[in-house]
Amino acid sequence: MDLMTAPRPRWLVLAGLPALIAAGFVWHGHAAKQEARADWQIGLAAADITPAEPVFLAGYASRDRAHEGVAAPLHAKALALQDADGHRAVILTTDLIGLTAEVAGPVCERITAATGIDRADILLSASHTHTGPMLTLSADPTTKMDASQATRQAAYTRDLQEKLAALAIEALGRCTQPARLSQATGLAAFVMNRREPTADRGVVLGVNPRGPVDRSVPALRITAPDGRLLAVLFQAACHNTTLGGDFYRISGDYAGYAQQMVEEAHPGVTALFTLGCAGDANPHPRGTLEMSEAHGRALGDEIGRLLADPDAWSPVSGPLTTRFAEVDLPLQPPPDGKALAAMKLQPGGSWRGFVASEIERRRAAGESLPTAYRAPFSVWQFSDDLTWIGLSGEVVVDYVTLLESALGGSRLWISAYCHDVYGYLPSARVLREGGYETRGLYAGGIGFFAPEAETVVAGAIARLARDAGRPESLFPPP
Ligand SMILES: [Zn+2]
Repeated sequence: MDLMTAPRPRWLVLAGLPALIAAGFVWHGHAAKQEARADWQIGLAAADITPAEPVFLAGYASRDRAHEGVAAPLHAKALALQDADGHRAVILTTDLIGLTAEVAGPVCERITAATGIDRADILLSASHTHTGPMLTLSADPTTKMDASQATRQAAYTRDLQEKLAALAIEALGRCTQPARLSQATGLAAFVMNRREPTADRGVVLGVNPRGPVDRSVPALRITAPDGRLLAVLFQAACHNTTLGGDFYRISGDYAGYAQQMVEEAHPGVTALFTLGCAGDANPHPRGTLEMSEAHGRALGDEIGRLLADPDAWSPVSGPLTTRFAEVDLPLQPPPDGKALAAMKLQPGGSWRGFVASEIERRRAAGESLPTAYRAPFSVWQFSDDLTWIGLSGEVVVDYVTLLESALGGSRLWISAYCHDVYGYLPSARVLREGGYETRGLYAGGIGFFAPEAETVVAGAIARLARDAGRPESLFPPP
């Protein structure tokens, strides 16, 4: 989430080479095997999740009223997969800010109860659009929301939980369409590192053309045995924040427009979007609806280019092996009173101030403060062809290189904003440098991640991947 009141394109601060440094093409193609067999059965379902009642939009703290109109509808989509052994799994994608554990937990419970699949077989993803509804299960009024508005927000969220569970159950129920899966990787040029170093204010939210970003666009193509396109799932690693806090209409931002464009270009096809390690990346430029649509068009065009090139794709075969774990990520020791007081005074640090105040409150009440946050992670292993990682949280781009170092960079798809979006997941570097992404947990707990969290994450993901059967030959030498 962003606290900025409005995006501020900074055309004049570009110094030196405006080189966009790709932190890694996380997914390298490999020699095409024989033509993939139709060793999958798939099921698709989609639902409009545009709020019918006025709701506060999520992501910018500056907003002071409910939404006013719809620029583009929001969708949730489900892709169910069944391999030749009958193992079923489902991917749920959403044009939403992010699902917290509190919201996602009951959705998963309903899906597992109705279908018998495991929690590990569910991948929950959000596009992190900042022009979608604020999600909360609390109907308590806030400083900005009266009781009736708070009730509307909670009612929307409860209804959403029902819709998401129903969608996954529907897709799993119709998982009978024979299909082939294949993968390709494209490029998104509008992805910009947003951690801008300044002379006197440290790292601020801005534009940093020399900062690391992941510009890869991994794509998963789903075709019928006769080659007919059924669905395409694609990803970019960039906040859906082209539209700013002054924009009060609903929209899926660039990811929503890209999906819409692909579906219009291929009638009957379902386009789905997942988000990569976008924690410290914004679209560039940003600030207008036209820019949002243009980024969507650029991403949609890239998918169109890949779809038009049969040589771009390599098979993704079964069997599918899924793993899921909740991992305790270490938090920093809670700051002392003096440090907390200073935090509350930091410029633009109102969210650090929130964490500081909450730590003070719990301390005063004699409550013990947590030393870790239990974060969910998933790994899906598709035969030897692909390892698909579902990270929780708003993960910064350094995790791409961290995971490539731990797992090897080949046949890797790294998604973030999955399962539980509790706050930013900063790297040790980002914590050392400071800046917005160090602001601490905003849902599900309280505290600031410790620098060691990145090592814990990389170790846990490598273990899950080994356990799921990622080939040892793909791992880097010890
Ligand atoms: Zn964010």
